[in-house]
Amino acid sequence: MYKGNIILISPPGGGKGTLAKQLKDKWGYTLITTGEILRVEKNSDSKIGKQIKNLIGKGNLVPDELINHIIQKEIPKTTEPFILDGFPRTVPQGEFLDKITDVGLVIYLEVTDKTIQERILERGKTSGREDDLSVDIIQRRIKQFKEETFPLINFYKAKKVLTYVDGEASIEEVFEMVENILRIWS
Ligand code: ADP
Repeated sequence: MYKGNIILISPPGGGKGTLAKQLKDKWGYTLITTGEILRVEKNSDSKIGKQIKNLIGKGNLVPDELINHIIQKEIPKTTEPFILDGFPRTVPQGEFLDKITDVGLVIYLEVTDKTIQERILERGKTSGREDDLSVDIIQRRIKQFKEETFPLINFYKAKKVLTYVDGEASIEEVFEMVENILRIWS
């Protein structure tokens, strides 16, 4: 039975990407990963690419209109159900999403600031992402998350689609918890 799509929310470095990949491999979900889409665009020589590079490199979000436009182009390409990793990241993005598709389940991976910083610095050794290298930029991303993205938790709680998962647990444990949630939900 079709129950809508799945959204993953976590602070930066919270484990969304790892979880999304596991869900794709084992459950066959289509993924829409906004960070990846933006990084591809960033590396193109376009004017928008340069704008994106500037924003992401400093630890800022890209404007809602730009990412909403990208999502609106991506969603019709997918066969449902799909997983959104990295979208929405602001309440206006969440409101926009409601206009174009159904949200059935929101998984919020909770992680402490200390863990975020440790994980991102570790990832920075191999990710090639400039936003993973400096403590200042990581702190800025954590602040952005608290101010811009965290309000989505109440937004989705009110819609009764939100589930909390302990993102401090191991990769295997997180996946097991999420699989249990999906078995009950789907
Ligand atoms: P992380 O896993 O560290 O959260 P992502 O790869 O998901 O990083 O995203 C990298 C960057 O791309 C973000 O820090 C932000 O600048 C930009 N970005 C991704 N998704 C969005 C979005 N929905 N709205 C605005 N900016 C976004």
